[in-house]
Amino acid sequence: MRNKTAALRIAQNIPPASTFFPLKIPHSAIHTPHFATVSSLDLLQQQLRQLPGLGPRSAERIALHLLIEQPGKLPALVAALQAAAHGAGRCVRCGHLAEAGQLCGICGDARRDAAVVCVVEHVPDLIALERGGTYRGTYHVLHGKLSPINGVGPEQLNIASLLARVAAGGVGELILALANDVEGEATCHYLTQHLAATGADGANGAGHAAVKVTRIGFGLPSGGGVLHADPVTLKSALDGRRAYA
Ligand SMILES: [Zn+2]
Repeated sequence: MRNKTAALRIAQNIPPASTFFPLKIPHSAIHTPHFATVSSLDLLQQQLRQLPGLGPRSAERIALHLLIEQPGKLPALVAALQAAAHGAGRCVRCGHLAEAGQLCGICGDARRDAAVVCVVEHVPDLIALERGGTYRGTYHVLHGKLSPINGVGPEQLNIASLLARVAAGGVGELILALANDVEGEATCHYLTQHLAATGADGANGAGHAAVKVTRIGFGLPSGGGVLHADPVTLKSALDGRRAYA
C-alpha cells in the first residue's frame, strides 16, 4: 500500500507530507514508541536546560524522572505551569508576584505594617528578606535599578507607582534596600529627589506627614545587594539602617 502511494506521489510529482509538515512525526515512526519517547525527551530537556540553575545533566535527570520514572507527576506539573502562565501577575500595590490584578500575600496581610515600605530591586531580594523572618513591614519592588548605560530609565522601573503610593499618604518610612553600587546609589538619589518634589519629605510643607527615608546599613559586601546576604547580615543591615540624605 505504501509503495503504491509513493509510486503515485512520484508519478504526480507530489512531495511527501513531511515536506508540508516538517514538524510532524513521520508516519513510519507513529507506531514506534521508542522514537516518540526520545523526541519528547529531547524537547523537554531542551526547555529545561534554558531554566536558570539547570545544566544539561540536571535537565536530563528531571526529564527522565518525569517521562519514565514518575510520569504520573506530569499532569499536575502541566496544570501548575498553565495556571502560572495565565494567572500570575504583579501585585497592584507593590509589584511583587501575585495573582493578576490582585494584592500579593504581604500587602493583603493586615498584620504587616503598611506604613513601613522596604524598596528592593527584584523579587528574589524580597524573598531573601522574608526568609530572615524579622521584617514586618511591606515592600515595593522596582524590578531593576536605574542604568542609563543599559537604557534603563525611571519609566522602565516600578517607580511611578511608588511615588504615587507615598503621595497617597499612609507611608511613614521608606527603607532603601538597593545595592551599594553606582546604579543603586543613583536610584536612591533619584527617589529622594522625586519624593522631595512631591513634598513627601515634608520639605515644602505638603499636606501630609513627612516620610522618613532610610538606607539599610551595609555589612553587605561593596557592590553587593540583598540577594546573596545571609539572614543574620540582612537583619543587622535592616536594624542598622540610617537616614538617607
Ligand atoms: Zn504587594
